Amino acid sequence: MSVSIVSRKTWGAKPWNGAPANVPMAKRTEFFVHYDGGNPIDYTGAKVPRAIEQSHLGQGWAGVGYNFVIDQDGTIFEGRGWTLQGAHCPNHNVTGIGVQIAIGGNQKPSDKALTAARALYDEACRRAGRPLAKRGHKDGFATACPGDHLYAWVKDGMPVPKDTNPETPSRIVPLAAGVKPGAHHKQVKELQQLLVKAGYGPIPGAPSDFYGTETQRAVARFHDRNPKYRAGLHDPRIGPKGFTALQKQAGRR
Ligand SMILES: [Zn+2]
Repeated sequence: MSVSIVSRKTWGAKPWNGAPANVPMAKRTEFFVHYDGGNPIDYTGAKVPRAIEQSHLGQGWAGVGYNFVIDQDGTIFEGRGWTLQGAHCPNHNVTGIGVQIAIGGNQKPSDKALTAARALYDEACRRAGRPLAKRGHKDGFATACPGDHLYAWVKDGMPVPKDTNPETPSRIVPLAAGVKPGAHHKQVKELQQLLVKAGYGPIPGAPSDFYGTETQRAVARFHDRNPKYRAGLHDPRIGPKGFTALQKQAGRR
């Protein structure tokens, strides 16, 4: 699984104050989770890494000390990134990838933030070529960080939260009878999401509950590439068997 990361340039990072050392991924053996400290964070977006940058520059560091920062919307911002030495946990800045989830105090991390953090962990392991040890900051240094909620999550094995998107279950479901060209039905949105995920998009106007022309075109593209499920050339109507096949192609089991 690849992860989407907002680059330093995009969030408006200042130039490094000095030059953080390079660290090859082969030296990484651990993944540290942090929080922001005692106070809850009530904002998201580029303001999150910018506030950390201001604080860390104020401590005389090169810039954001974490390798990555994740806000409550699940957006991942680049700090030191994959290749530079961090400044997040003494004695673990070379071996450890440090990630801050931007919450504070007793604030609960959002499902989106945890899902993004887990995806980032998986990507880090892939790049390192080995499973990285899952750690909270306090595993490497005497501190309250990353707070009770995040530490419990790390110790639980950093699971992906369930029901992050209840409208797209991971199991195969039957096709509702009302899902047909020209009709409105709540499952059409799910059909559109599956089509896009399996590579038959784009569907302009989606998601919606309307099985309109663009949805019909996407279904026809599915049928063109999977002719055994179609009833005729450029068939715009999904059938029960085709819907099952589509769900499998989109990763459901
Ligand atoms: Zn920390």
